[in-house]
Amino acid sequence: MTISCQAAMESAKPLEPFNYEPKDLGPKDIEIAITHCGVCHTDVHLIDNDWGISSYPLVPGHEIVGTIAALGSEVTHLEAGQRVGVGGQAGACCECEQCEKGQDIFCGSSIYTAVHDFGGFATAIHVDSRFAFPIPESMASEIAAPLLCAGITTFVPLRKYVNSTSKVGVIGVGGLGHVALQYANAFGCEVTAFSTSPDKSDEAIALGAHHFVNSKDPAQMEAVAGKLDFILSTVSADLEWGPYLGALAPNGTICVVGVGETITIPAVPLIFGQKTITSSLIGNRSDFKEMLAFSAMHNIAPRVEVVPMSQAADAINQVRTARLGHRIVLENK
Ligand code: NAP
Repeated sequence: MTISCQAAMESAKPLEPFNYEPKDLGPKDIEIAITHCGVCHTDVHLIDNDWGISSYPLVPGHEIVGTIAALGSEVTHLEAGQRVGVGGQAGACCECEQCEKGQDIFCGSSIYTAVHDFGGFATAIHVDSRFAFPIPESMASEIAAPLLCAGITTFVPLRKYVNSTSKVGVIGVGGLGHVALQYANAFGCEVTAFSTSPDKSDEAIALGAHHFVNSKDPAQMEAVAGKLDFILSTVSADLEWGPYLGALAPNGTICVVGVGETITIPAVPLIFGQKTITSSLIGNRSDFKEMLAFSAMHNIAPRVEVVPMSQAADAINQVRTARLGHRIVLENK
């Protein structure tokens, strides 16, 4: 079979049509006929080789939803025709110490989607069936797609660090941030959105924020000083961290999931407030199942703009430049 995709042939180059012949299905693999794939800022980082891990041709896409077209000989927990989703990890050994601990994201043999193999801006993909998650029946495929990266990456740290009395900030109302606002609200928190885009205020409030702070306005930043227990940063660029440390209450925590180049933290407010900086990477297999069930139960619904897969190059340009407050989802018709 031939898989048709959209690929970057070199670093930072526009996507163009590309075909490849996939490897034969292994016994634990499945073939997914892709219907939808979300466009994440990580796709831009990978196309541009920002992290020095990209190889070309590079087929982006790690928010994949589709139906199972074929199963390897040992796959018994899924069936042909079933709707499944795949995120940023498409395989692991499932036997090493990290996998045994349920931390398969740290497996040394991890196959990161679009890094170690071709990704989901394509008609189909072959993946390890243990990294394909059934989509809840009530959830539309275009809604499920962004949850497989934007959802899992924000759900996991919020579930770990907050409770229903927490005052939570989310920095950046983008693909990840607009979903994080919904989760933080669903966890019962008092939620503050920090954004460089004042025109996102109404949308942020509609998504679950109780307060909106224009982070470019020093007076608005000063007004939240010392108020928050936990801040999740979803920004795809370097930040000036001092004002955000200032927004934390003593013993508060900032968790960084957005990937800039460096994180420079002023030591005095960190130590004198006994504050913590931490990070979080996507999620493990068990987290995906919990995230999908939680999202279905609480109607967590990314705002999506569905466009044909053939418009992938334009979608990447928009994510690169437009500071979108929603997710673009590519669709195969
Ligand atoms: P996105 O849709 O482009 O949203 C990023 C948001 O950050 C923008 O909408 C904007 O929000 C804000 N922003 C952008 N540039 C900024 C700047 N220079 N200064 C201040 N704010 C800025 O991106 P995304 O898809 O949500 O991804 C966000 C980041 O998360 C990326 O770096 C991605 O690689 C990373 N990521 C990490 C993981 C993980 O496992 N840790 C998983 C997935 C993605 P406002 O307009 O509201 O300011």
